Order: sequence, then C-alpha cells, then structure tokens
Amino acid sequence: MREYAIATIPADGIGPEVIAAGTRVLAAIEKREGGIKFNIENFDWGSDYYKKHGIMMPTDGLKQLKKFDAIYFGAVGSPDVPDHITLWGLRLPICQGFDQYANVRPTKILPGITPPLRNCGPGDLDWVIVRENSEGEYSGHGGRAHRGLPEEVGTEVAIFTRVGVTRIMRYAFKLAQSRPRKFLTVVTKSNAQRHGMVMWDEIAAEVAEEFPDVTWDKMLVDAMTVRMTLNPRSLDTIVATNLHADILSDLAGALAGSLGVAPTANIDPERRFPSMFEPIHGSAFDITGKGIANPVATFWTAAQMLDHLGETDASARLMQAVERVTGAGILTPDVGGTANTKEVTDAVVDAIYASNV
Ligand code: NAD
Ligand code: MN
Repeated sequence: MREYAIATIPADGIGPEVIAAGTRVLAAIEKREGGIKFNIENFDWGSDYYKKHGIMMPTDGLKQLKKFDAIYFGAVGSPDVPDHITLWGLRLPICQGFDQYANVRPTKILPGITPPLRNCGPGDLDWVIVRENSEGEYSGHGGRAHRGLPEEVGTEVAIFTRVGVTRIMRYAFKLAQSRPRKFLTVVTKSNAQRHGMVMWDEIAAEVAEEFPDVTWDKMLVDAMTVRMTLNPRSLDTIVATNLHADILSDLAGALAGSLGVAPTANIDPERRFPSMFEPIHGSAFDITGKGIANPVATFWTAAQMLDHLGETDASARLMQAVERVTGAGILTPDVGGTANTKEVTDAVVDAIYASNV
C-alpha cells in the first residue's frame, strides 16, 4: 500500500465546497486504483479562524504542515477581512515558507467547453504557464511613509535574484523540453523595467544554452496578452514573473472557458517541503453557498498532485474522468451548463469507477 499524507485547507468562500468535492473524488480514486491510501487531515484555517484568533493560521502552522506529502488548498478571501491579510496570513507564507518557487498553471480547452475565442476549440490552446513564486513583485518589500499626509509615499519593491531567476528558468526550460513542441516563451517587461527584467532576459539566454533542443522566444508582457488572444496556437510553455504570470494565467483561464477550470500547483522542485495544489480562482463570494461552484479546477489540481506524488496512472484516470464528464455536457453555469457542484462531482466519481485506463 502506497500511503500519502494530505493536508486539506479549504479556507474561505467556495473553498470548502470545492475541496469537499475534491476529497470525494480522491476517495473514488483510492477505491478504483487499489494500492493507494490518502491519509487526509483537515485544517480549519482561514478567515473564520482569523475572526476568532486574530491570525489566519496558528504560529506553528508551517511546522504542522511540514510532515505532509502534499497540501490541497481551497481559496482565501472574505468580504469582511482585508485581502492583504488573508493572502499574506495563509497562502503566501505557505508558498514562501516551503520555497514552492515554481507555480505551474496548465491551461487547455476541455472537451464540451465552448471558449470565448472564435475558431478556437479543444487542442488549439494547450499551454503551461510557469510563474516565479518566491520573489519578484511579491517579495513583500516596500513601505509607506507620511501615512495619510498629502506627501505620502508608498513603494512596492520587486526583487529578482540570480539564484531565483536561474532556478525558475531551468524549471521552465526542462518543462518545455518534456512537452512535444519543446517551445518556451519568456515573458518580461524589459523595455520599461531595465534592471531586474533585463537580468531575466540575460539569464534566459544563459540557461537556454543548457537546453539546445528547446526553441524559445521572448515577449513583453503587454504584447503577450495580445498574442494569447489572437494567436493562441503559437504558444506552448510560458515563463513569467510572479505578478506577470498571475495576471496572464487569469487571462489563460478565461480563454479556456472559466476560472473555474484553471488549476495550479505550487511546487518545491527539490522536494524539501510539501508542495501545494489549488484552483487558481479565489473565494468567489458572489456564488458562495449556492452549490454551483465549478469543481473542475480543484479536480485538475488533484491530478497535478497525483502526478507530483508519482501516481501518474491515477492522475491520468482522474483527468480522463473529468474530460468524459465535461465532454458529456455535465457543466456548471460558469461554463454554460445547468449542473451544480454535486452533480458534476457525482458524474466524475461515476466516471472514475467506470474508467478503463
Ligand atoms: P474570484 O476568483 O473569487 O472570482 C472571480 C469570478 O469568477 C467571480 O465571478 C466568481 O464567481 C467566478 N468564479 C471563480 N471561481 C469559480 C468557480 N470555481 N466556479 C464558478 N465561478 C467561479 O476572484 P475575486 O472575485 O477577484 O476575489 C474574491 C476573493 O478571493 C478576494 O478576497 C480575493 O482576494 C480572493 N482571491 C484568492 C485567491 C486564492 O486564494 N488563491 C485567488 C484570487 C482571489
Ligand atoms: Mn491570482
């Protein structure tokens, strides 16, 4: 029996709804596969915990999580707690504390989903965005002076280090190399930002020499939004900074049909710490409690988690089940369907039992 310790942190809004659905799907995988066991422990951290204790997670939170093989995360964000508190109190400390420096965001158009772009269907858009997840614009450096006064100044410092940029670039080139097209696009804004961003360009060229079989090109982030929209087939693997990739991957999710189908993995490639798997969407207050949250992103990120744990067959089975269900038109309203979270989950569970991979 291969056993995996999984920490679930459903947190806020629709987070608990989609993680409950994901946990059911993992239980189905466990039964259908045989030989795998998930030992799941749930953590009630998040905005409700904050309202009771004044902190988003206990001070020894990272120590509690360290012994797990993976973390399965919902979303943070609450209408009555400031966003910077929920984000910096839970999700970012985990990403940064566990040095999950590679944030991997696959996007493709799933069968049955009609994307917003004309002449674009399954197979036409198949990308993986690699987001630098440990430094850059979200390094947390900066400050405010003369608060509230007319001369108030706020700085937000983006920090790029040679070590940080080189390791994410190597990760991205290696990932591009593992995909059929072996093609990487490096995104920066090195025309306007002439220090850290120019360093990105230089390090990309250096690392490219280690991967002679990978073709690569460079894009400025603003032009990149145009290329993603007008020429999606020209892209495959993409690497960008923390902020740029955050924005580009929301766009990617929308171009694939909905944020509700976009997954992400926060990976520590050196496997010193647990990696964290989550949908890219937030807590979606507008639909919380309605039972209509799309659980597909949360299922897909479970497949990323299974891959990371080395359970590639189980991962393929899960994705096949998801694609059968979307292909059969069992969809939540965000992707044009009429099914609710439970109906989609039931269908995926059935498809897992019926699968033959
Ligand atoms: P959001 O992702 O929560 O929602 C954006 C839109 O997409 C909403 O209309 C929502 O209903 C829809 N949507 C998102 N996920 C969906 C799903 N699974 N199924 C169907 N529809 C879905 O982004 P927002 O509204 O900007 O932010 C809400 C809160 O979430 C804020 O507090 C924000 O800070 C937080 N947030 C957290 C994360 C995270 O935890 N990783 C990410 C983004 C935003
Ligand atoms: Mn985001």
